Amino acid sequence: MTTSAAPILELKGLCYDYADKKSRFTALDGIDLSVRKGEFVCVLGPSGCGKSTLLRILAGLNRATAGEARVRNQPVKGPGTDRAVVFQGYSLFPWLTAKGNVLFGLKQNGRRYTRRERNEAAMRYLRAVGLEEAADRYPKQLSGGMRQRVAVARALALESEILLMDEPFGAVDPRLRTELQELVSKLSSEEGKTVVFVTHDIHEAILLADRIVVMEPGHIASVVDVPFPHPRVLSDLSKTDEYERLRLLLTLAYYEKTGNLTGEGAGI
Ligand code: ADP
Ligand code: MG
Repeated sequence: MTTSAAPILELKGLCYDYADKKSRFTALDGIDLSVRKGEFVCVLGPSGCGKSTLLRILAGLNRATAGEARVRNQPVKGPGTDRAVVFQGYSLFPWLTAKGNVLFGLKQNGRRYTRRERNEAAMRYLRAVGLEEAADRYPKQLSGGMRQRVAVARALALESEILLMDEPFGAVDPRLRTELQELVSKLSSEEGKTVVFVTHDIHEAILLADRIVVMEPGHIASVVDVPFPHPRVLSDLSKTDEYERLRLLLTLAYYEKTGNLTGEGAGI
């Protein structure tokens, strides 16, 4: 973990209303959050509590109704190549191969490469997600998990300091999911990226985060520090007393705020 004191992302009194001619709905109502450089923050909460809205504002896709979002002390005015985004579902370009999709990321990152260097970099990112062999396949020729790995490789190819991920592994089967989580944990700690990762899965949050921001609708309910060093391996962690303590703490926060006594959707 390579965190420093200076915040790289800041939300101050952030509010967001979805409004049309007939109605107005407040999805975020006064969010304050600072994320330090190199920190991995998970935003955990039940469906509908505003997680995606928060991430879209950081990504510059939605504009705050009130309050503000700042990146490196500058107000967020729109999307930028300093923030790579991975959403749920596989938003790959279907007309490009796996390698073509990663090359697209590389072309956006503002660095000058020769054609050869760019090709080598694309293969390096595909290798990082274990997909070197599938470089020339098109998205429709890949499984869901493989497509999501290409999406991660493409986001890494942007070589941005900040990675914003919105339930990126929600649709991936459980075994592959653990693999991808461990991969993101490893890559983010190796490259010192700042990551904001949205999830409704308590286990995923404990595996990945330095800090877990638990949301209730429109608000931050609590913030929990996760003391384990990176990279983490779920099967090792989950046997420890500290893991169990965190799981219980988060389960209680989740129950309390949602009244969801079945723990449904929380991966409990
Ligand atoms: P989460 O990602 O935690 O599931 P969202 O940020 O997607 O939550 O949504 C927060 C709230 O805003 C939800 O109640 C949702 O129904 C509402 N919402 C999301 N998008 C829209 C929209 N385009 N118009 C109106 N309401 C919306
Ligand atoms: Mg969402």
